[in-house]
Amino acid sequence: MFSQFALHERLLKAVAELNFVEPTPVQTAAIPLALEGRDLRVTAQTGSGKTAAFVLPMLNRLIGPAKVRVDIRALILLPTRELAQQTLKEVERFSQFTFIKAGLITGGEDFKVQAAMLRKVPDILIGTPGRLLEQLNAGNLDLKHVELLVLDEADRMLDMGFAEDVERLANECANRQQTMLFSATTGGSGLREMIGKVLKDPQHLQVNSVSELAEGTRQQIITADHNVHKEQVLHWLLANETYKKAIIFTNTRAMADRIYGRLVALEYKTFVLHGEKDQKDRKLAIDRLKQGGVKILVATDVAARGLDVDGLDMVINFDMPRTGDDYVHRIGRTGRAGAEGLAISLITHGDWNLMSSIERYLKQKFERRTIKEVKGTYTGPKKVKASGKAVGVKKKKSDAKGVDKKKTAAKGPTKRKTVNRPKAESLVSQDGLAPLKKRVTRPPVSE
Ligand code: AMP
Repeated sequence: MFSQFALHERLLKAVAELNFVEPTPVQTAAIPLALEGRDLRVTAQTGSGKTAAFVLPMLNRLIGPAKVRVDIRALILLPTRELAQQTLKEVERFSQFTFIKAGLITGGEDFKVQAAMLRKVPDILIGTPGRLLEQLNAGNLDLKHVELLVLDEADRMLDMGFAEDVERLANECANRQQTMLFSATTGGSGLREMIGKVLKDPQHLQVNSVSELAEGTRQQIITADHNVHKEQVLHWLLANETYKKAIIFTNTRAMADRIYGRLVALEYKTFVLHGEKDQKDRKLAIDRLKQGGVKILVATDVAARGLDVDGLDMVINFDMPRTGDDYVHRIGRTGRAGAEGLAISLITHGDWNLMSSIERYLKQKFERRTIKEVKGTYTGPKKVKASGKAVGVKKKKSDAKGVDKKKTAAKGPTKRKTVNRPKAESLVSQDGLAPLKKRVTRPPVSE
């Protein structure tokens, strides 16, 4: 029950209005400590209810009578536009019975309109680091009176090359009384460094380890002979599975476009999202998916960051993600807050070892599934090592990179230079501002 927390009655009223009955584990663990004013470092995945875990204590701190706003009192930094928009919605839902106002600053939106919004001074500012820093440098932003700073998806902000920007913005909030840092993973040395710099004597809450990932989600693999065969399996799944909404993940923009083209040809109502799509396309795709006009989204990891769509109950990994963390993020789209979900990864011989290293990382074994109508010849390695990896299968570079060999080969030598390495969707900032550093890859993919 949310009434167990010492939250203002106006917030409890909003919680009841939203039909939140039981707090999730991250909320149970974090809300009381956050209300005490402690610095927190929380490891919790998307879908765990982490947003409410910091938004409710934040609102509780800021709540008060209506008055002229003179200072920004809380700042939420996060990696992507979509996450920022979703967080704003969450803040607005919880603050509906209060006078608290929140504002959004992300790339891809009009700079001057944002500056005008800042002149009105929101109580809570939510934004991505690149554009916030630009507004700061332009003299439009005063963070000196921020009392509470939240870094959401801090690990992802680091992966996206925002470390320095985040630090600079945190330093601007020099008079803050509390800082909370959320990350989906325990992170590496970069995250430890950031924690050392921005948090004071933090309490570490590790609410769901990756092995507890998406309890309500069944995780399956289906073996396939090659990409064309994967497409057949995909079509079978879309035509025969029961689902409300599905998301299909690819590792490259080229593959996302290709699958999208195939699905459109089959008259599926589909959208494709990747880093080359502009803000308008992204908004349209997400709105249509939310409204239910479109049931299927084809996306790369970057494009799908922070996506929170109700009823998204099937995730298909057309390409296996390269790291365990990316897998966790993808699967985190489904089975949210206790709902049922289905996650299916399509595995060719080249994907097998990657898949088994992700199983080991998650300490889970995916369910093996065969579909007799589209069964191929490859059913997994003849022999596996204790690690689960195939005996005698050398990792093929091209497979591991998700390269569509068939397409590549067909292009011939002259065109190769431009098409034979459809790079993984680069982690270009969703703001399109900061160039991004190379990703940290975990777990190890090779032997
Ligand atoms: P998050 O992990 O913050 O992205 O939350 C995932 C989804 O779960 C969001 O749609 C929230 O609105 C929803 N949610 C969060 N906490 C609860 C709760 N205690 N009961 C029901 N739904 C929740």
